[in-house]
Amino acid sequence: MLFELNMLSAILWILVGFGCMEAFSWAIHKYLMHGVLWNIHKTHHTHTKGFFELNDVFTLIFGGTAIVLIFLGVDALDYRFWLGCGISLYGCLYFILHDVLIHRRLSWFNRPKNKYLRAITEAHKAHHKTQKENSVSFGLFVVPKKYLKEED
Ligand SMILES: [Zn+2]
Ligand SMILES: [Zn+2]
Repeated sequence: MLFELNMLSAILWILVGFGCMEAFSWAIHKYLMHGVLWNIHKTHHTHTKGFFELNDVFTLIFGGTAIVLIFLGVDALDYRFWLGCGISLYGCLYFILHDVLIHRRLSWFNRPKNKYLRAITEAHKAHHKTQKENSVSFGLFVVPKKYLKEED
């Protein structure tokens, strides 16, 4: 019984970590990266050559936060550990979808056929059509409905 409760709260904290990351990264992207931090973030919008871009420091900051939380919570296996796992899961999926599938930094997959994955790709490409001002689609996993409706 106790084990099941622990598992349930672990899963809940992972989901909280994952959900908060989408909300946080949406807000940070919209208000900071396209604001005062534009000089760093623009390296992602105007990327031309090389594997790394200055914008990757945001990955290091988010990843670092997850590592610290996991480190702090690992002895007690408390919420900090599972929050850190949720943030890590978000980071891994974000990397696979955003960096591999959409921007093709590594050529692991072909273009997606799945409707949701195509919608994510379209929404993010719309984001990249803009520069600092009047941009759209700052999140990744939460896709505006109109991209889901578009059929081929
Ligand atoms: Zn952007
Ligand atoms: Zn991008």
